[in-house]
Amino acid sequence: MATDNLTAVLHGIEDLRLEQRPIPEIANDEVLLAMDSVGICGSDVHYLTAGRIGDFVVTKPMIIGHEAAGVVAKVGKCVKNLAVGDRVAIEPGVPCRRCDHCKQGKYNLCADMVFCATPPYDGNLTRFYKHAADFCYKLPDHVSMEEGALLEPLSVGVHACRRAEVGLGSKVLILGAGPIGLVTLLAAQAMGAAEILITDLVQHRLDVAKELGATHTLLLDREQSAEETVKRVLCTMSEAPDKAVDCCGAESSARLAIFATRSGGVVVIVGMGAPEIKLPLINALAREVDIRGVFRYCNDYPAALALVASGKVNVKRLVTHHFDITETAKAFETSRYGHGGAIKVMIHVQPRDANN
Ligand code: NAD
Ligand code: ZN
Repeated sequence: MATDNLTAVLHGIEDLRLEQRPIPEIANDEVLLAMDSVGICGSDVHYLTAGRIGDFVVTKPMIIGHEAAGVVAKVGKCVKNLAVGDRVAIEPGVPCRRCDHCKQGKYNLCADMVFCATPPYDGNLTRFYKHAADFCYKLPDHVSMEEGALLEPLSVGVHACRRAEVGLGSKVLILGAGPIGLVTLLAAQAMGAAEILITDLVQHRLDVAKELGATHTLLLDREQSAEETVKRVLCTMSEAPDKAVDCCGAESSARLAIFATRSGGVVVIVGMGAPEIKLPLINALAREVDIRGVFRYCNDYPAALALVASGKVNVKRLVTHHFDITETAKAFETSRYGHGGAIKVMIHVQPRDANN
């Protein structure tokens, strides 16, 4: 195991550097992790290219990365759930545990959340990283470190499907077949959806969705009117979807979600696009179509891990590219421009499969 602490630090827009950082000291309830696999997320790329997401602005150097798994290298005095050598998935957000939201079990809404690679907090694309022990989930031997890292996006999909109340026989419309749309597809299947239509503007993403078992895929045409698009969705599915999950953030997509969803159904918005968009609200209210937001996840890691460990969900197909941490710049370029049909780009802090 390397003992240096090579770390990917975002200094500002288009300024991502690899540099040495001190190995962190842990508190009594924390573990030190020798990081293994870190996936690149759209938000990491966004901080690199824009230096901000909404009100979260990179104003000082920030370690990037939050879709991660590592191996416990040291445990704090009070840690009971983990031991040195345990392979763990890291839930990247640690809430305050004291506010009303935390106490009521909606800790993803905690105003004092410390979330990896969301300014001002550091992420974990580094060799050594410390984290609250109770936000680390021990992986069974047969679950790989890459799968552990993929529990992060998968938890978003699980949370979205729980918010949508996907269940046995649900007919689900998913808009956008990027990593988040695809994990939502996997979660919806596992939760009993009978029929799933997924849309995108890019055919190869739909091809992957089809491979993963989407019942229908629909290549959208930007030139087509909303009415025509709704018709195409309704003609393709056996009946109007009772759940729609927007996973792209486009205004046209959220509008389509509302128009296409059957009366009494649920529209869930995961995609983060423009801060304000135009929605057919009267259409939604007159048909009692509920519109719900999704913010990350909350108590969803255990279910995501169970889905992967039981073999009900296979997330491996999402990973299209692998890079060593020393190739971080190239990894970000691949993710950013979608080179080679990139979906999920994985960065390996240890040689690939060293801990599997
Ligand atoms: P991505 O950009 O890789 O994928 C989005 C996909 O949507 C692409 O394949 C794109 O071709 C497609 N698309 C674009 N416009 C479309 C349209 N009008 N109709 C259908 N498809 C369209 O992004 P991702 O990593 O999959 O994330 C998806 C969205 O989810 C992003 O907006 C991201 O910010 C958001 N997100 C939200 C949360 C949350 O907690 N709410 C968490 C993670 C990601
Ligand atoms: Zn809190």
